[in-house]
Amino acid sequence: MEQHKTAKIKTPPSEQKSRMMSQVRTKGTSPELALRSALHSDGIRFRLHRKDLPGKPDIVLPKYKFVIFVHGCFWHHHEGCIKSNMPKTNIDFWQNKIAANVRRDKTNQGDLTKLGWQTLVVWECDIKKDVCGVVKRVIDELHVNCAEKLNPSPCP
Ligand SMILES: [Zn+2]
Repeated sequence: MEQHKTAKIKTPPSEQKSRMMSQVRTKGTSPELALRSALHSDGIRFRLHRKDLPGKPDIVLPKYKFVIFVHGCFWHHHEGCIKSNMPKTNIDFWQNKIAANVRRDKTNQGDLTKLGWQTLVVWECDIKKDVCGVVKRVIDELHVNCAEKLNPSPCP
């Protein structure tokens, strides 16, 4: 008799733990993971956090000389986004900190452009809202940059 495996595999404790850890650290946050797995399932191959590139981009597509920064809305100041609202206390401290991040982001992106890399910033809130839409944007940008045709299927 054939047995159908319909039951979902339980999340092993170690995976659960590493997910918790990744939410604590700034790198490997869950929206970034969601984007990575969506890109991966579309056959787009990438490397992570290349330390030899300015700003250690989150996702690097060496084949296309293309990098993706996954930015937290608060830390990188997503303009007009509710998640980028300043805390009510220590406003000066936070404003200085965030302004420094934004300056650093601009410098890194400028340096990457000078080195011949194309950069794309995606916001965590956009990934949470519509990861397919973000993948589509990535693919559109790749098309602009590359003659080679990609045939991914970002959305079901
Ligand atoms: Zn946002």
